[in-house]
Amino acid sequence: MNEKRIPLSKTELEAIASEYPTPFHIYDEKAIRENARAFYRAFSWISGFNNHFAVKACPNPTILNILREEGMGVDCSSLAELVLSERVGFKGDQIVFTSNDTPPEEFIAATRLGAVINLDDIGHIETLEKSAGLPELLSFRYNPGEARTGNVLIGQPQEAKYGITTDQVGEAYRRIRDKGVKRFGLHTMVASNELENSYFVETARMLFELAVKIKRDCGVDIEMINMGGGIGIPYRPEDSAIDLSEISRGMQKLYGQIIVPESLDPLKIVFECGRLVTGPYGYLVSRVRHVAHKYKDYVGLDSSMANLMRPGLYGAYHHITVPGKENMPPGRTYDVTGSLCENNDKFAIDRPLPEIEAGDLVVIHDTGAHGYSMGFNYNGKLRSAELLLRDDGSVQKIRRAETIDDYFSTMRFPGAPVSI
Ligand SMILES: *Cc1c(COP(=O)(O)O)cnc(C)c1O
Repeated sequence: MNEKRIPLSKTELEAIASEYPTPFHIYDEKAIRENARAFYRAFSWISGFNNHFAVKACPNPTILNILREEGMGVDCSSLAELVLSERVGFKGDQIVFTSNDTPPEEFIAATRLGAVINLDDIGHIETLEKSAGLPELLSFRYNPGEARTGNVLIGQPQEAKYGITTDQVGEAYRRIRDKGVKRFGLHTMVASNELENSYFVETARMLFELAVKIKRDCGVDIEMINMGGGIGIPYRPEDSAIDLSEISRGMQKLYGQIIVPESLDPLKIVFECGRLVTGPYGYLVSRVRHVAHKYKDYVGLDSSMANLMRPGLYGAYHHITVPGKENMPPGRTYDVTGSLCENNDKFAIDRPLPEIEAGDLVVIHDTGAHGYSMGFNYNGKLRSAELLLRDDGSVQKIRRAETIDDYFSTMRFPGAPVSI
């Protein structure tokens, strides 16, 4: 169980909304910092432990800078994410580049920044070699196929487009070694939003055993293991948060059993978690435009899938709180919708909530990761602002809302004199 609370009262939210019109995402800086510190404490036995925050989860420079100040690195998978990270001040091995179907210019940018490149496919060795040249340290993403089960969000490993297969591992590492690569990493990511502690211990076991196999078969010493992201968060009140210290203890035991006897110690272990880092500390704040009574009862918000796609895309649960009505009984059942002409533009279906009226504020929880960033402009809907609730309780705008001119800025209208 976890308590789904919002860090702001109705009065405080109304005051914020009077300055920054709804909808907006607001992130809780204090909670993000405290959570980051707890993450590092849990894995302090690992020399060189790091989490490379998956930029795609919350690509906002202010948030990235907070994480940089807390000692985190970044995980990028596109040119824009690399450039964003560079502009925030990340460099060298603080940046991991885990991409797929990668164009040469992205390998060139990653190489220029000194990022740790994580190849998704054996065929990408040649693309990297021809575009930027092979670096001293190179990593591969491993896909265990049928050896592991995935989950709903990411699918089964053998159906996933990512990573090299078990049969390709030996050839992949031999090939890069023969081409002069000197240092080697190993990465995997097999689950997403996973809440089972043991799943990650098993992933560590799989990677530790594979590192041993690579050493024995190819004479290649893996020096860095990247556990990927995918640690889940308790979106539902009845979910339990993951226990990082339990995962850490399980990994430490396996490290002693598998890595140390093979003289692979010290092995650097890193993660690429996004959701765990910012997910629970972001909130989408909207206002109710209409309450409609049709075959069902609908609460229509001033936000839409453009602001938060997960419920419509995956049927994901996001908890909803009506500020000021936290203690009222959830005596009504509503579909909470946006305004897109798409019937899956619903934040919640058949959700028990207190009686809602037009003008109420509605807070959607856990939008700090894969929230704003998944937004799109379908139906000409504009993406909202992002706000930061600072350590000292003040509020700062860290991204303005899109304007209709932003939306039109890439279009050429008939007869327009200006070139685009
Ligand atoms: C999306 C992604 C992550 C982050 O996933 P979370 O669920 O946010 O932890 C990490 N690594 C890779 C390669 C990804 O694609």
